[in-house]
Amino acid sequence: MSLPDQLPILPLYDKVLLPSIVTNYTLSDAEAKHLIKNDFIVCIPLMKNPRGNTIAGLNDDLGRLYHFGCTAEILNVDQSLPGTTVLHVQGLCRSRVTDIVYEGTSFEALVTHHFVMDDDNGREEDKYNKNNGCNSTKINQEANEAQFRVLCKEYITRMQELGIADAILLQLTRSMANEPLPSIISLLLYLTESATFDDKLSALEAVHYQQLLELAIKVVSCHLQTLRTSTEMQQTVEQALDHHRREFYLRHQFHRIERKHNNHFVLPQQQQQLRSTRKNNNPYNIIFKTNNNNRNTNVTNIITSSNEDDEELADLVRQLNQANLPTYATSVVSRDIKRLRKLTPSTPESGILRSYLELVASLPWQQQLATTTTYTDDVSITVAQKHLDTDHYGLGQVKRRILEYLSVIKVKKDLSPPILCLVGPPGVGKTTLARSIATALNRKFYRMSLGSIRDEADIRGHRRTYVAAMPGLLINGMRKCGVKNPVILLDEIDKMVQNSNQGDPAAAMLEVLDPSQNISFMDHFLNIPFDLSQVLFIATANSMESIPGPLLDRMEVVHLSGYTTDEKMHIARSYLWPKQIEAHGLGKMGITLSDSALLYIIEHYTQESGVRNLDRNMASLCRYRCKEYADMAEKSETKKLQQLHLSQSSSSSLLLSSDLKPKIEIDDIHVILGAPLYDFDMVDGEEAVPGVVFGLAYTQGGMGGILPIEVNQMPGRGRLTLTGSLGDVLKESAYIALSWIKSNAYALGLTASRKDELLSDMDLHIHLAAGAVRKDGPSAGITMVTAIISLLSGKSVPKTTAMTGEITLRGQIRSIGGVKEKVISAHRAGIERILLPATNQREVLQDVPENIRQSIRFIYCKSLWDAVEAIFDYDGLHTM
Ligand code: ADP
Repeated sequence: MSLPDQLPILPLYDKVLLPSIVTNYTLSDAEAKHLIKNDFIVCIPLMKNPRGNTIAGLNDDLGRLYHFGCTAEILNVDQSLPGTTVLHVQGLCRSRVTDIVYEGTSFEALVTHHFVMDDDNGREEDKYNKNNGCNSTKINQEANEAQFRVLCKEYITRMQELGIADAILLQLTRSMANEPLPSIISLLLYLTESATFDDKLSALEAVHYQQLLELAIKVVSCHLQTLRTSTEMQQTVEQALDHHRREFYLRHQFHRIERKHNNHFVLPQQQQQLRSTRKNNNPYNIIFKTNNNNRNTNVTNIITSSNEDDEELADLVRQLNQANLPTYATSVVSRDIKRLRKLTPSTPESGILRSYLELVASLPWQQQLATTTTYTDDVSITVAQKHLDTDHYGLGQVKRRILEYLSVIKVKKDLSPPILCLVGPPGVGKTTLARSIATALNRKFYRMSLGSIRDEADIRGHRRTYVAAMPGLLINGMRKCGVKNPVILLDEIDKMVQNSNQGDPAAAMLEVLDPSQNISFMDHFLNIPFDLSQVLFIATANSMESIPGPLLDRMEVVHLSGYTTDEKMHIARSYLWPKQIEAHGLGKMGITLSDSALLYIIEHYTQESGVRNLDRNMASLCRYRCKEYADMAEKSETKKLQQLHLSQSSSSSLLLSSDLKPKIEIDDIHVILGAPLYDFDMVDGEEAVPGVVFGLAYTQGGMGGILPIEVNQMPGRGRLTLTGSLGDVLKESAYIALSWIKSNAYALGLTASRKDELLSDMDLHIHLAAGAVRKDGPSAGITMVTAIISLLSGKSVPKTTAMTGEITLRGQIRSIGGVKEKVISAHRAGIERILLPATNQREVLQDVPENIRQSIRFIYCKSLWDAVEAIFDYDGLHTM
C-alpha cells in the first residue's frame, strides 16, 4: 500500500497508537474538521515533558509532538452527537516525522513510513543488523519468538484467572493464531496495564523486528512478574483471613456452648431471678444467684459475658464470676466491664481498667484456707504450744502470753482482742514466733515490712487517676495470700515514718488494726470496701518508744529481751547448729562443735542480743567444712571418698579421713572465722582511781555493756564540760547531778561550811568512754553523781561496782529499761556489785537468770543518799 508522505496531524494526549490497533478517538468538530477530509492521518503522541527527541522549532502543543507517530487509516467518522466527531481509525505503520508544514488552515507532518514484518519480505531488521554490525542469527530470533509466545500464553492464563473480559482474551487468542508477531505485540502492549507510556513510545519507534521483540519480552515478563507477586500476596491475605474467620467462628461456637451450659446449671429459682433480671433490661446480664458459702451477704452476683469477641475479656469475666464478689463489688465491676467493652483494647485506659479488674478477680473475697468456715474454729492451744516449743528455746513468758492470747480468741470466738505486738531487739525470734503461730493455726503466713514507709499511699494505695497507680501493701498482700484469713506480720511497725509530707502512714494503719473499721477497709486503688476482719495481725518492733501512741493503744505488747550467753549456747546447740548442718548437707558427716568453741564464738565474734550473727557464724563453719570436702574430692582421694560414701550409707555417723577433724575446736575458729572481732570489757586490771565509775549501758541493738564515766577537775570558774557524743537527755542528767551535788555539798562533806560555794574556782569535765558511739538516755544520772563525789572527795569506787538509774533534782532514783541485758553484761565483765533503782527489783527477779543473780550483790536504791551511803565511807561525810 502506498501512503502519502504528507499527512494531517492528530495529536494524542497520554496515548500512543500502534500499528494494527483499531480504536476510536473523540474530537470536537473543529479539531476533526481538517482531518476528516483525508483518508489517512498521522497520530503523534504529545510528550508530557518535551525531551530532545521532539520536533524542534514549534511552539505549544506542536513543540511537544514526538518525533515518531503512527500512520492510521480513518475507517469511519461518526458525527451523530452534536459538536463531537468520533474517528474510527486503524494504525497502519510507524512513521518518522521529518518536518511540520503549515497548510493554510492546519499543520501537516512530513513523514517516512516504516513497516515491521516478521517474515523475510521487506525485513527492516536486516538493515538494522547490518547497521549495528551484528549478524543476528535466525536461531537467536526464533528463540526470542518462542519465548515471547510462551509468555503470551502465560499472560492469557493469568488474565483468565483474574477474570479479564472474555472478549479481550478471545481477541488475543485469535491474534496469536492468525496475526503476525508485530501485530500481536501491538495488541499486547495495548492491553497490558503495566506497559507505561514510555514503553509504548519505545515500541512506536522500534522499527526493527528484533528490537521490538526484545522490548515486548521485557514488558510482558515484567507484567507477569507483577501478576505473580500480587497473586501470592492475595493468597497470603486470604489464608490469614481464613484463619481469622475460622477463629471467629470457633469462638462464637464456644461462647454459645458455654452460655448454654451456664443456663443449664442455673437452679429453678435462679431462673426466675434470671428472667426478672432480663425483664429489667439489665445491660450487663447480671444474674443474682444465691450462694450458700457467702456468709456475709448470702448473695453473689454472676456477670455473664454475651458474645465476647475478645478472648481475654471473656476470660476476665469468667474469673470475676468465680471470685465470689459481694453484691456491692459486683455493681462496680459490672459498670467497669461495660466501660471496658467500649474501649479500644490498645488504649492505655483499657490496659489500666483491665489490670484493675484482674486485681478485683484475684482478691480472696470469700476464700478460706483449709476446711474450716470461720477463723476461730481451728485454734488448738495444744497444737500451738507444740509448734512454739518445737521452734523456740526458752521464751517461757512470751510463749505463755501468746497462748493466752490465742485462748481468748478460742473462747470468745472472734478476733476482736487487741493486735499482738512483739517488741524486742533484732534476732530474738519475733518473726519466727509469728510464723509458728501461723503454722499452729494452719493459716497462711505473710510478712509485710513497714520499715521506712513514709507514704500513706503505701498502705492505702494510690487513686486510680494517678499515673502508675498501685494498690497498697495490704491489698497486695491479700492478693498474694489468696485467702481472706491469713496471719499477716506487720514487721518493724516502729520504723514507719510519721507525719511525713506524704501523709501519715500510721493513721492509715490505725484503720487496718481497728476491728470495728477493718471489716470494710478502703484501699484507694481498689475503691471497693474489703473485709480484713478475718486476718490475724501480728506486729513486731524493736522499741516501744517509736510506735505511734494511737497504734500502741490498739496493740497488746509482748516484750522479748536479749538472750544470755547460756541461752545462746542452748539455742545454738539445739536449733541453729543442727539447722545449718542440715542446710549444708553435712547431716551424716558427724561434725561437732565443742562447747568451748561455741562459747568463744558467742563472746568474741558476736555482740548482739539475738542470735542472728551467731547463726551466720554457724553457717560459715559449715561452709568451710563443705569446702574441705570439695577440695578432698578434687584431689582425687577416691578411695577415701568411696569409704566415705560407703560408711554414709551404712551408718549415721562417719569416720573422717585423718585430714578432717570431726570436732571444731577454738583453734579452728581462728582459722575459719579470722581474728576475734570483739574483746570483752573486763573491769579487772587497772587500779581504781577517784573520779572513775562504771555505769551500765543499753544500746539500740538491744545489747548491754559497762560504760566507764570519767570526771576531772581543773582551775576555772565552775564551768561543766561534757564530751563523748552525748545526747540532750544525757547532758541534762549531768547538769542535774552537778546541781544536786552543789546543793548538798556540805552534807556530802565536800565543803567546810553550808555557805561555801562548791567549784567556785574550778571547772569540771565529764567524759563518757567510746566517744565515737552516740549515747543518750537518763540512766547514767546515778553514775555521774557518784563519779563527781568520788573525784571531789578523793575516794575511789571499787572497780567491781557498777550502777544505773535515772535521778531527779531532789535526789530520787527512777527505774530504767534493759535491766536484764545490763546485768548480764555486767556479770560478764566481772562486776560483783550493782546499784539499781528499787523499782527495778521485780525485773531482776523475773528476768535475770538464777546463776547470775547468785553471783552479783544487788543494792536497790530509792534515793541518791542510799547510793552514797552504800558506796562511800559515811563517816567521811558531814551529817545533815
Ligand atoms: P527477729 O524477727 O526478732 O529479728 P528472727 O525471728 O528473724 O528474729 O530470728 C532470727 C533467727 O534466730 C531465726 O533463725 C530463729 O530461728 C532464731 N531464733 C531466735 N530465737 C530463737 C529461739 N528462742 N530458739 C530457737 N531459735 C531462735
